[in-house]
Amino acid sequence: MAEYLNYIGGKWTRSTSGKTFDSLNPATGKSIGKFQAGNEKDVEKAIDAAEKTLNEWKNTPAPKRGEYLLEIARILRKNKEKLAENMSEEMGKIMKETRGDVQEAIDIFEYMAGEGRRLYGHTTPSELQHKMAFTQRKPVGVVGLITPWNFPMAIPAWKISPALIGGNTIVFKPSSDTPRTAIQLVEIIEEAGVPAGVVNMVTGDAQYVGNTLVKSPRIRGLSFTGSRETGEWITQHAGVKKIGLELGGKNAIIVMDDADLELATNGIIWGAFGTTGQRCTACSRVIVHEKVAKALEEMLVKKTLKLKVGDGRNKNTDVGPLINEKAVEKSIRYASIGRKEGKLLCGGKPLDTAGYFFEPTIFTQVKARATIAQEEIFGPILSIIAVKNLNEAIRVCNSVEYGLSSSIYTNDLTNAMHAIDQIEAGITYVNSSTIGAEVHLPFGGIKKTGNGTREAGIEGIHEFTETKTVYIDYSGKLQKAQGID
Ligand code: NAP
Repeated sequence: MAEYLNYIGGKWTRSTSGKTFDSLNPATGKSIGKFQAGNEKDVEKAIDAAEKTLNEWKNTPAPKRGEYLLEIARILRKNKEKLAENMSEEMGKIMKETRGDVQEAIDIFEYMAGEGRRLYGHTTPSELQHKMAFTQRKPVGVVGLITPWNFPMAIPAWKISPALIGGNTIVFKPSSDTPRTAIQLVEIIEEAGVPAGVVNMVTGDAQYVGNTLVKSPRIRGLSFTGSRETGEWITQHAGVKKIGLELGGKNAIIVMDDADLELATNGIIWGAFGTTGQRCTACSRVIVHEKVAKALEEMLVKKTLKLKVGDGRNKNTDVGPLINEKAVEKSIRYASIGRKEGKLLCGGKPLDTAGYFFEPTIFTQVKARATIAQEEIFGPILSIIAVKNLNEAIRVCNSVEYGLSSSIYTNDLTNAMHAIDQIEAGITYVNSSTIGAEVHLPFGGIKKTGNGTREAGIEGIHEFTETKTVYIDYSGKLQKAQGID
């Protein structure tokens, strides 16, 4: 069984704990390798290494830092197929999707490389003569990155690339469900020649590795993607540092009576059962106009029953396994609640095979306030809620505590514009599913989905840089602002 190591100060090292843990293939339940069970000491060493190289890295011109990012993108592209296959083995997504995950990493490294030649500040006139004013973007310092397993390469890349281009050094803690994918990304960062100590990685339990990163006063910025519960814990324990939180969702697709139902059906199936429902942007609620509810239900069930559930590496598979046993138990629990809160149309149980499989499941006649319509399930369970008109649809859409993604299917421009205006979410799609972010646009949500930061696009740079304001007075005399004489 292969044993994988931590990466600290440019060296692959064992944890001082002397312990390892396994990462399991969710399609079989079998181990794919042994990983370092990191601890507080490993994290402190990684922070030492990151602090040591910070000056050198932040003084490397940003366009030069961009060259490393381009090289990382090139190596990722060269190895895309193998990386996608390994990822599918480690976390279960079908190969079409794991290829997309690697592609998203390539895209963001290329995009952020270009940001090295921009890193825009702004210039603005001074209120005084012979004085100029502008802003610059400066690194935050040593940043901690904590990531989930559902996009095990794309999400780390969404954080590592802006952190690097912004001149920060990094301590990275990946999910314990997907350490191998993270290690393969870090190996590529090393191959691209990124100097030792700039990117450090410690695998291991949240309780030791994650908590130490969160609480350390030497970590100046912390970027976290994961569950709301963990996000809330981080908010309470991180102390004074810059924090970015990308948390859960309870995303809805509204289908109006004028919509193209075939198009809507395809979008809903992709949004609800893609990644086995384990996306923060997954569609878990369909809010449908009552006039077309019955027709849409029939179309959804017909297509859902045709989906093939199985190993993600198998060419014919449409829906892979859930990530682990706990996730299957969670889906079983919500399916049981759903049987009381709505009418089961299809699915509703785990597959009777090895691995962590659960049938794509649809409930109808669900009330907007039902538990399955309110809580993030993170599994292949969809609720259908019928409404009388657009106003009610938007009210139902906004009745959850999250606000990440949303969508409306309609051929009426007025409906679409009202939805765009009134839906409370960071992202709204029109005639497209709730998933499908592009790296040059900001990504993130409102309400309990986060704390206002955005990843990707130009705004993704803000999470990893501080603003410096500069005044240059070339009048040769003491000038005072606010008209003070
Ligand atoms: P999670 O349990 O919160 O874990 C995420 C990461 O945080 C893992 O690396 C985990 O480590 C670590 N962690 C857990 N508790 C911690 C603590 N107290 N201190 C420091 N680190 C801690 O979330 P998940 O189950 O992996 O991911 C699913 C969630 O992520 C869903 O809610 C989903 O909506 C959300 N998500 C959001 C976005 C977005 O952009 N908004 C994108 C993807 C996923 P271990 O693995 O060692 O436990």
